[in-house]
Amino acid sequence: MIPTVIETTDQRMLEIIHKVRNGERLTLEDGVYLYESDDILTIGQLANEVNLRKNGKRVYFIENMTLYFTNVCESHCAFCNFRRDEGEEGAYTLSGQEMIAYVEQHIHPGVREFHITGGHNQHVPFQYYVDSLKALHERFPDVTIKAYTAAEIEFFTRISGLSTKEVLMALQQAGLKSLTGGGAEILSDQYRQKMKVEKANVDQYLDVHRTAHQLGMRTHTTMLYGAIETHEDRVRHMIQIRELQDETGGFMVFIPLSMQPRNKNAGIMRRNSAFEDLKTIAISRLMLDNIQHIKAYFINIGVQLTQMSLAFGASDVHGTLVRERISHAAGANTPEGLTRKELIWLIKGAGRIPVERDTFYNEIEVYE
Ligand code: SF4
Repeated sequence: MIPTVIETTDQRMLEIIHKVRNGERLTLEDGVYLYESDDILTIGQLANEVNLRKNGKRVYFIENMTLYFTNVCESHCAFCNFRRDEGEEGAYTLSGQEMIAYVEQHIHPGVREFHITGGHNQHVPFQYYVDSLKALHERFPDVTIKAYTAAEIEFFTRISGLSTKEVLMALQQAGLKSLTGGGAEILSDQYRQKMKVEKANVDQYLDVHRTAHQLGMRTHTTMLYGAIETHEDRVRHMIQIRELQDETGGFMVFIPLSMQPRNKNAGIMRRNSAFEDLKTIAISRLMLDNIQHIKAYFINIGVQLTQMSLAFGASDVHGTLVRERISHAAGANTPEGLTRKELIWLIKGAGRIPVERDTFYNEIEVYE
């Protein structure tokens, strides 16, 4: 039963409610209007309605583990505190065997996905990235490898001289099953220039995912919000993702990532407010009518707000993670991972049904 307790006298909001309930697609102007409205409860309830229609009370999570082969990076994105120069204190590049030793030390029973991202290390050849995945895949054949952002894939084409398709196929042969969603930041070339996003541009980001989808891979996508971008930039970002999804149907989930405040270069003085985080989850749910799941990422918005977001349109709380590094380097003060028990507690506490999933949202266990 879908709750329908939305009372408002705002005519423009009523139009939007009417459109959503009639399955009509929201426009750029609708999305911006929602962002500029303070009526968070109406927006949240509407997103909740849409989510309950799509996913019922099921909320998904996965037992996974984050891995970072290298933090050496040729780029200097303004918001990044993870990257290091080669030779700088704290810089590292692990071999496949070193990574296996790390995983053997930290893995816990039930982990079914490795989430792998890292720096754009130009001091090692593309073959290094292929061999590292291969070594991991051979040692842990039952764990799904979700690796690299579209920006990393674009970087690999530059260091290898191969096409996007050839890079993806080489990685697929080594064990790659899905791409992570990172590197999207805000899909606006102007924003990318101002924020010194020294990596794949908008077309390249979209094209990598398009090519991956054409090769039969289903992937993830993100939006890093909370810096200099306008509400319009955010909604345009969502619309570009929605258009690619219309074309390929290859995105499984959209992940709004709340910007972390540590790096002063990026001009980010404070965290996003809880209002902004919840609104972004809800508006993502309303704009992205062709993507099945919106993820609330506890690493960036905290455990409590993640739980709240389940009443605002989110249907996924990511996973156990184990030692997240990128957001923590950027100033996240949240846990570096959660246990399966904690994730189940969080979902049940919101009156939802926890469902443990694999990378592709196949259900492993339902915790009624
Ligand atoms: S965000 Fe990624 S590409 Fe940019 S500096 Fe950091 S590690 Fe490098």
